[in-house]
Amino acid sequence: MNLHEYQSKEILSKYGVAIQRGFVANNVEEAVAAAEKLTAETGAQAWVVKAQIHAGGRGKGGGVKFSPNMDKLKENAQNIIGMQLITPQTSAEGKKVHSVLVAEDVYYPGETETKEFYVSILLDRAEGKNTIVYSTEGGMDIEHVAEVTPHLIHKEIIDPALGLQGFQARKIAFNLGLEGNAFKEFTKFIASLYNAYTGIDASLFEINPVLKTSDNKIIAVDAKVTLDGNALFRHKDLEALRDTREEDPMDVEAGEAGLNFVKLDGNVACMVNGAGLAMATMDIIKLSGGSPANFLDVGGTADAQRVQTAFGIILRDPNVKAILINIFGGIVRCDRVAQGVVDAYRAMGSLPVPLIVRLQGTNAVEAKKLIDDSGLPVHSAITLEEAANKVKEVLA
Ligand code: GDP
Ligand code: MN
Repeated sequence: MNLHEYQSKEILSKYGVAIQRGFVANNVEEAVAAAEKLTAETGAQAWVVKAQIHAGGRGKGGGVKFSPNMDKLKENAQNIIGMQLITPQTSAEGKKVHSVLVAEDVYYPGETETKEFYVSILLDRAEGKNTIVYSTEGGMDIEHVAEVTPHLIHKEIIDPALGLQGFQARKIAFNLGLEGNAFKEFTKFIASLYNAYTGIDASLFEINPVLKTSDNKIIAVDAKVTLDGNALFRHKDLEALRDTREEDPMDVEAGEAGLNFVKLDGNVACMVNGAGLAMATMDIIKLSGGSPANFLDVGGTADAQRVQTAFGIILRDPNVKAILINIFGGIVRCDRVAQGVVDAYRAMGSLPVPLIVRLQGTNAVEAKKLIDDSGLPVHSAITLEEAANKVKEVLA
């Protein structure tokens, strides 16, 4: 689950991570109030207005605007709220901006230069350990840095039993070329950041840029947090931060129905029980000349209600030209599933695309008979090969 920048920063702040301060605003009046409050609290003389969407590269798309005075701030808030923001990380249509973060300007002039760094924390699956990835080349596209100057990206692997060690924090600060107060500030920053990462069961933190201000403070100017969905049950308060407007409506509906669903861009929708069988089914679809429109694991109970919900979700996709149901009756009986499919079909009246049903396992023969006798235009199959051939037929 992804969070907005303003939500991420609030969490970081609770863990003692220094952040660029700001307040979220849903309209121009709130943006003005936010700016005034910031000035009262921090003395900020200028602000940045930052579009809150679940995608990076907002600066490049015109979603981050420096605002040196109140008129400019109003104008920027007016333009950004409600805009369709297109960034290198969104689709071509972009994302609608519902709110902005009004933040204090932290790039003020001072005795020394400001400097932008890149810091992320993520699980390195090959190492099986959390890893801090960092670079002196912050503020820009890290993928570009990785491609052109990979030697400027460093990694520090964290031992899960020990956590981030003091020497590691100092090593990172040293490699970033920091000294004096900024060095000390950075070691505090990275220790709190790592604490936050483990504390909320995150799967990704990306802070780009981490800024060394002209008065040698170290602060998070941007913050992208992804939470581990499997750990959300331990964080009811964080679950409430979910913004479903940012997610694909098909994913949202599937999540609410407890269906394990991933949308893909093919033409054959599939409905399967068990993740392994779902993968195998997607292979079969490929082999028969189609391409899977989704991954869908309906789980153990494929009753009429569930099947109908699943139909509803997969048929939202206009690319779908056929549906393949592939269920193995191990714990669940095939005739039950067949009845569920028939009932769901009848409840829907009709389906706009051909339906192929392959049921194997307990009571498979009874199940096939039930479908064949239903009088519905459903292609039934018992073997996977038969099912694949039927998919080929209906696509031809
Ligand atoms: P992203 O484009 O989605 O990654 O959004 P960021 O939060 O990283 O902001 C983009 C860029 O805006 C940063 O790299 C900075 O250069 C700039 N920026 C952010 N905050 C400030 C600020 O307080 N003052 C100024 N002048 N620029 C800022
Ligand atoms: Mn950024």
